[in-house]
Amino acid sequence: MSPSYDVIVLGLGGMGGAAAYHLAARGARVLGLERFGPVHRHGSSHGGSRIIRQAYFEDPAYVPLLLRSYELFERLERDTGREVATLCGGVMAGRPDSRTVAGSLRSARRWDLPHEVLDAKEIRRRFPTMAPADDEVALYEERAGLVRPEQTVAAHVQLALRHGAELRFQEPVTRWEALPGDRGVRVHTAENSYTAGRLVVCPGAWAPRLLAGLGLPITVERQVMYWFQPEGGVAPFEPGRHPVYIWEDAEGVQIYGFPAIDGPRGGAKVAFFRKGGTPCTPETIDRAVHDHEVAAMAAQVGRPLPTLPGTFLKAATCMYSTTPDEHFGIGPHPEHPGSTTVACGFSGHGFKFVPVVGEILADLALDGATAHPIELFDPRRPVAAPA
Ligand SMILES: Cc1cc2nc3c(=O)[nH]c(=O)nc-3n(C[C@H](O)[C@H](O)[C@H](O)COP(=O)(O)OP(=O)(O)OC[C@H]3O[C@@H](n4cnc5c(N)ncnc54)[C@H](O)[C@@H]3O)c2cc1C
Repeated sequence: MSPSYDVIVLGLGGMGGAAAYHLAARGARVLGLERFGPVHRHGSSHGGSRIIRQAYFEDPAYVPLLLRSYELFERLERDTGREVATLCGGVMAGRPDSRTVAGSLRSARRWDLPHEVLDAKEIRRRFPTMAPADDEVALYEERAGLVRPEQTVAAHVQLALRHGAELRFQEPVTRWEALPGDRGVRVHTAENSYTAGRLVVCPGAWAPRLLAGLGLPITVERQVMYWFQPEGGVAPFEPGRHPVYIWEDAEGVQIYGFPAIDGPRGGAKVAFFRKGGTPCTPETIDRAVHDHEVAAMAAQVGRPLPTLPGTFLKAATCMYSTTPDEHFGIGPHPEHPGSTTVACGFSGHGFKFVPVVGEILADLALDGATAHPIELFDPRRPVAAPA
């Protein structure tokens, strides 16, 4: 007989690592199964940094979740002694009517979040690396900043183990099934099969395969992160002086970037937000980054931050798992609501929610409901399939 668990967590990346921790901390007997090692570069949770912010241009409905996420990031640091978050401030810039500026302002006002609106002159004065056009403005959010994805995943894994979870790495799930009559689930790997009362599926870019019956269409896309050594050195880009930023141009193209967090030779990271992702699978993704891509990035970032694309240092690929409306998929599996909970389709903006998603998944798996507002993420919502 294979051993039996209260909950199996499939995938121990960003979301699954957090779920395993929250479940184990509540006393559940947890088995976590992960295809790769404890922290890896093959999915969506690597690359050294992720922006966190509260004045959320995407939708004010995300803000209560972000407030809770911030608390949980803080707790994660306290409980593990790891440095996970750096609140270096954030500049959300573009024309006043751009999605980045107008949307951020809407959330800030709706939730009374501390913020300032800066005109072009004030942006230039405070942040000498930035060269906005005269008609550009920014929302400045002091509590924006960055979290370190690898440290976050490692911290959740560490705490899950501390609370008695059994985590098996290098053990990919080949298939899973809900047992008839609400008797739980059976999960198969090459070597073993396991049973549990509940299953939590956090598959990242593997969702189209592992959640084929879900009904929520998810497109997996290749995205690229770039590191440049600024002309004149990284000093003006150091985290004590430089914020994170999202910059939207007149055509609606968004880029985002970070202070130089990797020392004098590490450069500063920048990327396109959502634009230009080539559809791929974890097996077919092109991991090489091409000269024309580096040139396009340098040109786009060089307009608002002229010294940044000084010297190209390196680039890395990562996958987005995008739903048609770019909202997440979190909730009971529509076909197996009694046994299986899903967390997928984080659409390139999920990392800042990792700790609160872990808490939500533990609520759903153990109590069948959560007090957190997750209506927007219902996997059964009607969404048009991508063209
Ligand atoms: C370039 C880039 C930049 C981003 N920037 C930001 C940002 O600034 N701010 C922000 O909030 N978000 C950002 N995101 C999004 C965020 O990083 C993701 O939403 C988040 O990491 C997704 O976490 P996940 O747990 O769904 O996926 P992952 O962390 O990839 O975890 C999925 C896990 O499932 C495992 N798995 C898959 N199949 C199996 C199987 N069969 N058996 C066992 N294990 C399996 C995988 O190995 C993996 O470990 C960015 C993403 C990318 C790619």
